[in-house]
Amino acid sequence: MNVTTLPKPPRVGLVSLGCPKALVDSERIMTKLRADGYDMSPDYAGADVVLVNTCGFLDSAKEESLEAIGEAIAENGRVVVTGCMGKEAEVIRERFPDVLAVTGPQQYEEVVAAVHEAAPPVPSPFIDLVPEAGLKLTPRHYSYLKISEGCNHRCAFCIIPSIRGDLSSRRPDAILREAEKLVAAGTKELLVISQDTSAYGLDLKHAVYPLKDGSEVRAHMTDLAAKLGGLRTPEGETPWIRLHYVYPYPHVDRVIPLMAEGKVLPYLDIPFQHASPKVLKAMKRPANEAKVLERLHAWRALVPDIAIRSSFVVGFPGETEADFQYLLDWLQEAQLDRVGAFKFEPVQGAAANDLPNPVSDEEKYDRYERIMELSARISAEKLAAKVGSTIDVLIDRVDDQPSDERGPDLAHLDAPHPAHHHGVGATGRSKADAPEIDGEVHLRDAGGLQPGDFVRVRIEDSDEHDLYGVPL
Ligand code: SF4
Repeated sequence: MNVTTLPKPPRVGLVSLGCPKALVDSERIMTKLRADGYDMSPDYAGADVVLVNTCGFLDSAKEESLEAIGEAIAENGRVVVTGCMGKEAEVIRERFPDVLAVTGPQQYEEVVAAVHEAAPPVPSPFIDLVPEAGLKLTPRHYSYLKISEGCNHRCAFCIIPSIRGDLSSRRPDAILREAEKLVAAGTKELLVISQDTSAYGLDLKHAVYPLKDGSEVRAHMTDLAAKLGGLRTPEGETPWIRLHYVYPYPHVDRVIPLMAEGKVLPYLDIPFQHASPKVLKAMKRPANEAKVLERLHAWRALVPDIAIRSSFVVGFPGETEADFQYLLDWLQEAQLDRVGAFKFEPVQGAAANDLPNPVSDEEKYDRYERIMELSARISAEKLAAKVGSTIDVLIDRVDDQPSDERGPDLAHLDAPHPAHHHGVGATGRSKADAPEIDGEVHLRDAGGLQPGDFVRVRIEDSDEHDLYGVPL
């Protein structure tokens, strides 16, 4: 049996000097790095790279910053400098020619790029929360917000608890402060991620934390989601709040009214992984006893346009043709909007490796093809039903020239459907589409739009995964 061995995630050490603003910058950088799969190192010795966030406000603070850089160079050697002293890059480089990169305050993208270069992230579909393309710098108009680390479950195919440990939630006040900063800096969409978002706050005993505006927040998924939904962009818009990796525990029902109120996107990413009770039991999946189909119907009754995304594993040891057919029938009934599927693969250290009755590679492949075919058909039908409607779209990319000036070879890139090649096109996403993993909305005649703009779009056409339309 081929068992996949996982690479170790790179570790970042952080020395944060300076004012509370600098600390918020550090938090924000760490959030992105954590979302990218980096581990934090509490000491110099265990770090693959050390980030020094400096202060340059007073001479004494500058001296302290230079000392901190010197110490990091001496103790570790691989150092990236950021923060206010980064404005004086020559001073730093003169004294420490070995620093790997120097960036200034609020240059999040540059710092994260420097860390990526010094200690490249190791993409792994077995442990990553962010799609591989998301490891590249996410544009400012959307950000991943990691709310906890680790997991209390022990799914048979998963090695995350042994790598990341048990659930460890971040304080809700710290998450909200960071979310506020992100939104103030141009983020229009927050993608809430963790291994198990619905378990958020369990380890904090769902304690209540005071906020600086005099209100308070409970360390609980629904309370945190409600607070996030109360944020406003500098233009007064409500940012999109998208919840990923939510298990269907009973309390998830309480997040659905927040969708009806427009505080949270009508979107749930629930990694069901299978439908057959026998396979789910063998997988040791959490919340598998819930009557999921009935709950999906109830959610759709409250929020008719809710989009449910899920992923499934096919070919888990012991999965029979009857189990697989059960999954297909269930999917047909559940009518999920977005489906990702994986062929089971043993990962070093996973309990499932020792289970009897492995499924052959041919069967896995065949089942994978069949589940993808069914989900593409369901998706195509659901998208076709949107033709003629008007929906909200968040713009991700805008073409830099009209499609008819690109020549025949380039005309398809980011362009509207071939049937409507007119003018400058743009590509965005609807509320039902998470970046990188779901579909897109391709626009024609989109001149004047910018990435990060919200627009109303009339849908004119659809295919298996994408929509095509025109801004109103
Ligand atoms: S819920 Fe299961 S699959 Fe998800 S991280 Fe925890 S153990 Fe792994």
